[in-house]
Amino acid sequence: MPSAEVATLLEFLRFPSISTDPAHRADVARCAGWLVAQLTASGLKATLHPPAGHPVVTARNAHQPGRRTVMIYGHYDVQPVDPLELWTSPPFEPRIENDIVFARGSTDNKGQILAHILGIAATLREKGELPVNLIVLVEGEEEVGSAHLEEFLLTHREELRCDLIAISDTGMVARGVPTFTYGLRGIGALELRVTGPATDLHSGIYGGAVANPATAVARLVASLHDTDGRVAVPGFYDGVAPLETWEREAWARLPFGDAEILAVTGAPALFGEAGYTSLERTWARPTAEVNGLGGGFQGTGTKTVLPREAFAKLTFRLVPGQEPGDVMAKVRAHLSAKCPPGVRLEITGGHAGEPYVTDPNSPGGLAAQRALRTAFPGKDVALIREGGSIPIVNTFKKVLGVESLLLGLALPDCRAHAPNENFPLENFHAGIRLNRALLEELASVG
Ligand SMILES: [Zn+2]
Repeated sequence: MPSAEVATLLEFLRFPSISTDPAHRADVARCAGWLVAQLTASGLKATLHPPAGHPVVTARNAHQPGRRTVMIYGHYDVQPVDPLELWTSPPFEPRIENDIVFARGSTDNKGQILAHILGIAATLREKGELPVNLIVLVEGEEEVGSAHLEEFLLTHREELRCDLIAISDTGMVARGVPTFTYGLRGIGALELRVTGPATDLHSGIYGGAVANPATAVARLVASLHDTDGRVAVPGFYDGVAPLETWEREAWARLPFGDAEILAVTGAPALFGEAGYTSLERTWARPTAEVNGLGGGFQGTGTKTVLPREAFAKLTFRLVPGQEPGDVMAKVRAHLSAKCPPGVRLEITGGHAGEPYVTDPNSPGGLAAQRALRTAFPGKDVALIREGGSIPIVNTFKKVLGVESLLLGLALPDCRAHAPNENFPLENFHAGIRLNRALLEELASVG
């Protein structure tokens, strides 16, 4: 028999709350309704906000003047499940094996946000009140880019006013290692399209007389880096915040580094900007990546064609000190300057997101580290950044003016977004302890 807490988790995981799929619209709404009932039963005042897209659920205790106000953010929507045939058991019929629960959403993010909610419920049950003014915000559109959340924050700014936000939706460096993520990279995207002749041409009749768009794209892509792996766009590194000595030392001690990255990726060798380790390259250095490249004949065999167009899709991961608009303007100028003669270059912009960094040794950061030590007794806290982007963190900072503490409970092999997503029950229970310790610690932060 699972404990009452685990039984509640299994109930939550049975909702196929796939936000991107219109066929699951009613399931998403039912899941939101279930959350409201859970939060209400915990002793909070919960509200289901009718959707511009999918519902937002909020909950709060009775706020008292003079106390810290803490927001816990998470999401109840999940990714689609395909390819279904690669799941060992059905994604919405949670299965527990060796104290690991397998289900879509188990790690991302239902297991993590429910651990917080159950931590709150346990404190209320035992003590009758919480040590802080609490706001819980659980959205249903995180997996589709939080499309309506900024608007929601703007229209509810007064009632969402808080001192700090805590989010458990990032990773742990290894099993049993409590991890505090204090930085995220930003992003800038663009697509370049090179066109030449009005139509594909016979490369025997016209080759040599007309510039080849595929060659031009290859030259443009090659111009992005020097041979040492440094981005060659003039001004790209302007303002980039250098790594601190303590960060380099702390990351070098983590139980995760080049050997693990080599094993996980299956690449024949690691490669990146000279002078940095792989963790430094992915967490604290900006990059230029080609995400897609195309043009010309893609079929079997040979076709002697001179293609009329070719394209490349690029993204740039950005770090503190870089501003996406400024960097992308420099990239455009560089590409325009490097474009060879005889073709037309067209650049279209994609999405952009700011990098994020917060001081792990701020009063709130130190409180979070103490809470992590309570949740994982006897373990040192890993202080890391992550290479990806969580746009909502910047939206919180922009609209509400507050920092987010990222206290993730996802393991490297949790298979979020993939078949057989899973979450160890030990992390679920650690999450419940984490919430209780965190509210306690944050209550006494000046
Ligand atoms: Zn996700």
